[in-house]
Amino acid sequence: MTCVTQEREGPVEAPWHPGAMATPSDRTPLAELVEELLATDGPLPIVAAGEPVLRRATEPFDGQLDAPLLARFVEALRITMHAAPGVGLAAPQVGVPLRIAVIEDPAPVPDEVRVARGRAPQPFRVLVNPSYEPVGTARAAFFEGCLSVPGWQAVVARHAEVRLTGEDEQGRPVDEVFTGWPARIVQHETDHLDGMLYLDRAELRSLSSNQAMSERWTQPTPETAAASLGFELP
Ligand code: ZN
Repeated sequence: MTCVTQEREGPVEAPWHPGAMATPSDRTPLAELVEELLATDGPLPIVAAGEPVLRRATEPFDGQLDAPLLARFVEALRITMHAAPGVGLAAPQVGVPLRIAVIEDPAPVPDEVRVARGRAPQPFRVLVNPSYEPVGTARAAFFEGCLSVPGWQAVVARHAEVRLTGEDEQGRPVDEVFTGWPARIVQHETDHLDGMLYLDRAELRSLSSNQAMSERWTQPTPETAAASLGFELP
């Protein structure tokens, strides 16, 4: 690993070392920001659409946080995701422009919904420097929401299956295919790390308040909503 006080340019070529320790004097601005956030216990404040941090590209993780600080940050993301509650949370959603996200979905839904949406339970995991690419051409369209766009949901047609590459929180390489709802979650969270919100990809005519969702659009699939609101499904 190169000297952490030097400015890095270009693509990251060497894997980061989770064991590397930064001394206080070469602590990065991102480490300072995370330390500040973690000064208060409990869930972190989630920033809402309109905050520029949600629209900027993130820095690839390259050891900007030393191993203990990374572990504390990941734990805070986990607590914040659970408290919200949500099935995923990306670092920019707590104001940190780093390429890190967490996901976890206990999938507490009826069987009918689980089958229609492929909503298999997804254990907790940390995505470090994730990227995805489609596997095949199939698309799946369902309502989804975002903790940074509270109160609303919309239908997004996404790749039904994606290959996710990146690392885990220990710096171990990840190369894995996701299908069903977990594929949707990893696309949503990885998009956050590229400054993208789900609304950028949504059928805007499907935009529904949480109240409309619970009163009208609880069906396992969005066909009825598409017919009533006038939007296309793939
Ligand atoms: Zn989101």
